[in-house]
Amino acid sequence: MPHVITQSCCGDGSCVYACPVNCIHPSPDEPGFGTAEMLHIDPDACVDCGACVTACPVGAIVADTRLTAAQLPFVDINAAYYPPRPAGAKVPPTTKLAPVLPAPRPEHGGLKVAVVGSGPAGMYAADELLTQARVRVNVFDALPTPYGLVRAGVAPDHPRTKAITGLFDRMSRRDGFRFYLNVTVGQHISHDELLEHHHAVLYTVGAAHERRLDVEGMHLPGTGSATELVGWINGDPRSAGLPVDLNHPTAVVIGNGNVALDVARILTTDPEQLAATDISDAALAALRTSAVREVVVAARRGPAESAFTLPELIGLTTGSHVVLDDADRVLVRADLLAAQDPVTRAKLEVLAALPGADAGADAEPGRRRIRLAYRLTPTRVLGADRAEGVQFRRTGGEETVRLDAGLVLTSIGYRGRPVAGLPFDDAAGVVPNVGGRVVDPVTGRPVAGAYVAGWIKRGPTGFIGTNKSCAMQTVAALVGDFNDGRLVDPVRRAALLDKLIRARQPDLVDAAGWRAIDDAERSQGAGEGRPRVKFTTVADLVAAAQSRRSPRRGGGHRGGGHRGGGHMDRIASWISS
Ligand code: NAP
Repeated sequence: MPHVITQSCCGDGSCVYACPVNCIHPSPDEPGFGTAEMLHIDPDACVDCGACVTACPVGAIVADTRLTAAQLPFVDINAAYYPPRPAGAKVPPTTKLAPVLPAPRPEHGGLKVAVVGSGPAGMYAADELLTQARVRVNVFDALPTPYGLVRAGVAPDHPRTKAITGLFDRMSRRDGFRFYLNVTVGQHISHDELLEHHHAVLYTVGAAHERRLDVEGMHLPGTGSATELVGWINGDPRSAGLPVDLNHPTAVVIGNGNVALDVARILTTDPEQLAATDISDAALAALRTSAVREVVVAARRGPAESAFTLPELIGLTTGSHVVLDDADRVLVRADLLAAQDPVTRAKLEVLAALPGADAGADAEPGRRRIRLAYRLTPTRVLGADRAEGVQFRRTGGEETVRLDAGLVLTSIGYRGRPVAGLPFDDAAGVVPNVGGRVVDPVTGRPVAGAYVAGWIKRGPTGFIGTNKSCAMQTVAALVGDFNDGRLVDPVRRAALLDKLIRARQPDLVDAAGWRAIDDAERSQGAGEGRPRVKFTTVADLVAAAQSRRSPRRGGGHRGGGHRGGGHMDRIASWISS
């Protein structure tokens, strides 16, 4: 088998279009694409050309001769996606390629779009819009740094996944692209004002707020959400001062999605391994003195309903010490007998092979570990002045189960928040829309000029690359409306937007400012053998943006910020057009 897709598959499908023999599936036009946990290379059809390796933005595709021991399980995962064939039967290379959806083409020039949110959905949307000439896209973000959860949510020990920022950096250098960072839409500029300067406003603001667990005791010190903890680990300025108490040997994480696994893994990884990542300095210092020895990941349903994905489970079990107690092993075996779906079966087989909780403790007494636990419905957090544990009811029964813990984290999913000026579906936590067009839920009519993509459009599911097809659908709707004359031409000149925002937010960070931050963080990291050392306060980020001090890449940022040259000159001439 020449090439294998591994754990960090982002699912954006770039490899599918690069493959000359259409051997990577599901492809974006196939029904399973939206729900697949990863893409798979057909081992019999792959012609070993390596085109997919070049196309993959996260380095997830590896030649079979170069797989690490931890990546070997992915050989079988890729192969298992395809139906069994008679031994020796050769699959002829196909000449049928995955159909490339034509980019929507504005029929006349001058389309101007504001994208609010610079995470993956915003960046893919901007990129799709800018495949056409004479389109201009202004991307706004409330933080001084772009890329949303790629910077603030992806775990620091997943550097391949974070490498997608290289793709986003290239997108941001396209003609017609402009960053307005450290600018809050709704505070520094309103939706209506954006519409005065653009044909449309496309919201890609995500759903980066935790869902709350409504049980007694969740207010106690020692409780918190995985979302906040991930932000703290990643140096997100909004979580910089989070009080994280790691003085108790046990932590409990409620919920067992991929975020729960991320948190459990970081809390149990040797801090010296994390020291080589871009983890925040404060989190690293706290983890170095952490007393946590066991993290229990508690799911309310059974093993077959585990919310984590197979690639992440494999990554966890090959890198961390993961155990299962006897009662949960019985549940795994029972679910294995009933499981039909191959991905669920594969997950259960991995779980069935885990060491027992007792055996693991005896064999490696000092090693930090993760215990996966099932059928535990949380009923209250125990403790008077601070969290001392969690009380659960055995799901489907009456038995009460108590786990002592000094840190109780909920990891029960994300939730979108209302966007000023737009309708909101409170039950689903999304902006009501049809294919990305915002609609009024009462009349069912589109809200003129308003669009959504990403988690605020479809809810908090999928992977980074899922946002590509999601954004493409919205952009197709937006460009279609533009071509049909349903969008109002902006009444104000582009130069006035810049003036307005600079007047209201003197600490605006533009593309040059972001590159200065990026350069400064990377050069701080280089001295320590780390990808970057992050600034973790808005003040430090803004100071780095304004200093333009980095000497990297030929000193291109010295001498005048957005009047610097090249791309910046083009932007300057665009502003004054
Ligand atoms: P998630 O996958 O939706 O998992 C949520 C978990 O919370 C489930 O186990 C769910 O159990 C549980 N839960 C919900 N309400 C609960 C309640 N009231 N009491 C107890 N448990 C409750 O959410 P997530 O982990 O936040 O992930 C969000 C998305 O980001 C997912 O699509 C995920 O794959 C993606 N992501 C991917 C990566 C990666 O690829 N490396 C990393 C992070 C996140 P039930 O199933 O019983 O409802």
